[in-house]
Amino acid sequence: MTRFRPKIKLSETQADWHHPTTIRFGAGRIKEIPEACWSTGASSPLIITDHGVSKLSFVKKILKQNREESVFTSVFSEIYSEPDFDTIKYGAERLRTGGHDGVIALGGGSALDAAKAIVLAAAAGPLRIWEFSAGNSGTPQVKKTILPIIAVPTTAGTGSEVDANAVITDNEQGRKNSLAHPELLPKMVIADPELTRGLIPYLTAATGMDALSHNIEALSSPFFHPVLDGVSLQGIRYIREGLLPAFHNGRSIKARSYTMAASIMGAIAFEKGLGVGHAVSHAIGGMFKVHHGRAIGTLLPFVLSLNKSRIKEKIEDAARYLDLPGHDFDAFVNWVSDLKLELGMPVNLKELGIRESHIPKIAEKALDDANIHTNPVRMDQKRLEGFLSGALNGG
Ligand SMILES: [Zn+2]
Repeated sequence: MTRFRPKIKLSETQADWHHPTTIRFGAGRIKEIPEACWSTGASSPLIITDHGVSKLSFVKKILKQNREESVFTSVFSEIYSEPDFDTIKYGAERLRTGGHDGVIALGGGSALDAAKAIVLAAAAGPLRIWEFSAGNSGTPQVKKTILPIIAVPTTAGTGSEVDANAVITDNEQGRKNSLAHPELLPKMVIADPELTRGLIPYLTAATGMDALSHNIEALSSPFFHPVLDGVSLQGIRYIREGLLPAFHNGRSIKARSYTMAASIMGAIAFEKGLGVGHAVSHAIGGMFKVHHGRAIGTLLPFVLSLNKSRIKEKIEDAARYLDLPGHDFDAFVNWVSDLKLELGMPVNLKELGIRESHIPKIAEKALDDANIHTNPVRMDQKRLEGFLSGALNGG
């Protein structure tokens, strides 16, 4: 007996999932957005999206569909990469004055995170958003209802559509801050790989390496979680099967489906925690405005080597599952290094414009990032500086 009866006939790469939230996955599923709005109680939603995405044809299609189904929809498209406090404050004002009862978060990680932070700022008041930083203990109270979010990702990387966090740049502190509240988990996700077909190779590469890093760092995390270890292993496999084909032939729905699935799986898996790669990438992103996916993609082979003594067996399992030559740790690192080069990622931190003199500050900020605590090897300032020196000139 099946628990769920699909409303439409689902193809080989379409499915409905219900973990950690309701996910309607597969090509063509954006046509279900009006129904998603009604079923989540959003009869007059605000689409929050980034400026570039707002000009794409599928936005018009979503607006037309919603209009036809009496879902009165407005668009806020003032999100640019790396959203900060001012953007969130402005968006919360738009959400409040427009009298909206829900949000359609449409775009890549920045737009999805901005939409979540805007919903939080509208409920708690913009000045209070840093109280919700993921590192703080407990969840502060909010006075107003947190509006329902329908997430519609247009990239396959952060997996922000399936978590309850929002990474926002804190310009005053010069770093990225992850805000968290359980109600920020979208009520529904429409994961339609067709929306990623137009993604340029540069962004396909960066977002894909981010998805891979989530799966690898989650698998590497020392916490015992048999379910999520399985998720991350399969997520790594989907990247192996889908990322290069998506990079070379962006129109392939099969490749785009695999990378989108891997992105969702990585974000589900990192409930186990991430590691030094993300701690450092957040520091670099805050200081140098480097794309998160390029920073983490550059670092990934160095992160694996740093943690070798604690993750060797797990990575060998992954090498076996991917059927890499020799099925050993080095084969896995070589695969990641080769993938990074074929995708045109920087070889080392120097190619990202980072210099020796920046290292102490990056290490200091990375030590302050929550992800550092779930790295399999314990890190301190000296170890981090050593790791960064290696990643600066290595390759
Ligand atoms: Zn990431």
